[in-house]
Amino acid sequence: MHIDILTLFPEMFPGYLNESILKRAQAAGLLQIDLHNIRDYATGKHRITDEPPYGGGGGMVLKPEPIFTAVETLISTLQSPEDKRLGIGDWRLPVILLTPQGRPFTQRVAQELVQHPRLLLLCGRYEGVDERIRQHLVTDEISIGDFVLTGGELAAMVIVDAVARLIPGVLGAEDAAEDDSHATGLLEGPHYTRPETFRDWSVPEVLRSGHAANIARWRREEALRRTWQRRPDLLLTAELSEADRWFLGKLAAGER
Ligand code: SAM
Repeated sequence: MHIDILTLFPEMFPGYLNESILKRAQAAGLLQIDLHNIRDYATGKHRITDEPPYGGGGGMVLKPEPIFTAVETLISTLQSPEDKRLGIGDWRLPVILLTPQGRPFTQRVAQELVQHPRLLLLCGRYEGVDERIRQHLVTDEISIGDFVLTGGELAAMVIVDAVARLIPGVLGAEDAAEDDSHATGLLEGPHYTRPETFRDWSVPEVLRSGHAANIARWRREEALRRTWQRRPDLLLTAELSEADRWFLGKLAAGER
């Protein structure tokens, strides 16, 4: 998968993106991240990227010209013979604006984004971007939560991280993403590691039993319990088996 990030501050990214799983994913050729500085596409002696808003008021607004030029330049490179061979020539690059006004980012959105061979993430700054960028250039708008950051860079890193771990092969089989919280609509249950007893608190017997079916059922029930306690709203849309419903009935009756 290929992710392009358009930002005024490309130097904010390497520390996070070049460590651990994301570093290995790039080294293995499973993920390519290209950082593009918006300023490189600005013209004039001062390469101005932002101006005060029409109508007055504080702050600055990112100008349309450098951002249109950057995105259009990038899209024109997708017409290379190599991209045509990959079938990218006929396919429209998602141009995603990070904004607190966008659709909420969830695991389901991450699963949707990972289906694309390539994405472009556009990081705003200051008061945000000129409205014409939103109207005529971007194809999607995503928010990482109901709060306001100083820029879209952290939001872009959150999206890259959540999407990259869903690329087949990025996580090893033993820590695959299918059991993670939100992957199946439930929160994941608790984990334990060595030592077996720490300050009189022991690891549950079943996890030490070696009985695979009992361990799987215990994990499922703890995931149901945790979801019921912390996020009962998720149970309304989660896929539940008969056994799951029976266990939830027992929980609700105070019997488990
Ligand atoms: N004036 C804007 C508003 O009220 O909607 C907020 C601008 S914010 C200070 C600057 C930039 O940070 C935004 O353009 C966006 O790219 C990014 N940003 C801030 N909060 C965000 C969030 N919750 N999710 C995604 N991006 C965010």
